[in-house]
This record gives sequence, C-alpha cells and structure tokens, in this order.
Amino acid sequence: MPKMSKTSKQILKKAALRARASTRAHVRPSWDEYFMKIADVVGERATCDRGRSSCLIAKDKRILVTGYAGAPAGVAHCDDVGHEMHTVIHEDGTQSKHCIRTAHAEQNAIANAARKGVAIEGATLYCNMTPCYTCAKMIINAGIVRVVAKKDYHAGRRSKEVFKEAGVTLEILDPEVETYKEMK
Ligand SMILES: [Zn+2]
Ligand SMILES: [Zn+2]
Repeated sequence: MPKMSKTSKQILKKAALRARASTRAHVRPSWDEYFMKIADVVGERATCDRGRSSCLIAKDKRILVTGYAGAPAGVAHCDDVGHEMHTVIHEDGTQSKHCIRTAHAEQNAIANAARKGVAIEGATLYCNMTPCYTCAKMIINAGIVRVVAKKDYHAGRRSKEVFKEAGVTLEILDPEVETYKEMK
C-alpha cells in the first residue's frame, strides 16, 4: 500500500467524522410517528379532495391493514364525477355540508380487514382527525382499543363521549381542529 500523504489522511479523517455525525443526527421515529407517516402516504390514494383522509390499523408494532376515503370499489369517484353533497341540519339549527359519496378511511380499513380475514381486536387505529360518530361506533365494535388522531374534528363531541364510555383511548396529537370547506 502506498504511503498516504498528510493531506489525504486529513481528508479521510474528516470524512469519517462527518459520517459519524450524520449517523448521530438520524433520529428514529417513534412507533406512533412511523405509522402516522405511512398513513399519510396511504391518503394520497383517496379520491375526494374535500379531505384525502387515511387510516392505518396496527398491533404489536405491525401494520395489519390500511384504508383511505373513497367511493366503494367499482363506484364512480368524487375526483371523476364531483361530490355528492348533503346538507345536515343540526339540533341547534345550524347547517353543515358533507360529501357522502365516500366511505370514510376508518370504515374502509375495517372493511379491508373483514375482506381479508384480519383480526383487528386489541389494535391501535391511526387517522387524520377525531373519527366521526359513525366511524367511532364501528371502531368500538371492531375491538380497537386505542385511536391516535393527527388533528381534532369540529363535530367530534359524540365520538369523544362514546370512546370514553366504551373505554377506547383517544389521543389527539395536534389539538388544532382540521378545517375543510363548508364545515359550518
Ligand atoms: Zn367527495
Ligand atoms: Zn367517519
């Protein structure tokens, strides 16, 4: 081996130091962060631009199933034929508009588990915002024990109440309320 010059030795030493520093700089995501990041990618397949929601169900550090907001398989998508808007008049007289063409991401994840015979009892569900009341009821009956939502939902009051009553843990990572068109 030829004798190395002082300069090349210094270059090698610097490169080694840089490599060590970059290894130190890498921070592994927590399990919650890891599953939530993957759920974000799942949402890119969603077919309603009012909220490309996604859901991931995991247990024992393993992904069981995923789902995203979309019309039922084989049925026209919002992105192709427009939304199916529905006005809801609330108890207090206020109105809100919702697109009802899609099955919610949480519902599709649960349906995907049923389709493939995957047991989701005792699992954790990751989703974009506090699930709606219908999804909350399905989540409880599917045996999910923990729900991690990225943001809060402006109409999530009943979901929070039934989760508490049924003993399902709800963790909202960012207390900010998710916003979308005509939510009030
Ligand atoms: Zn839609
Ligand atoms: Zn829902």
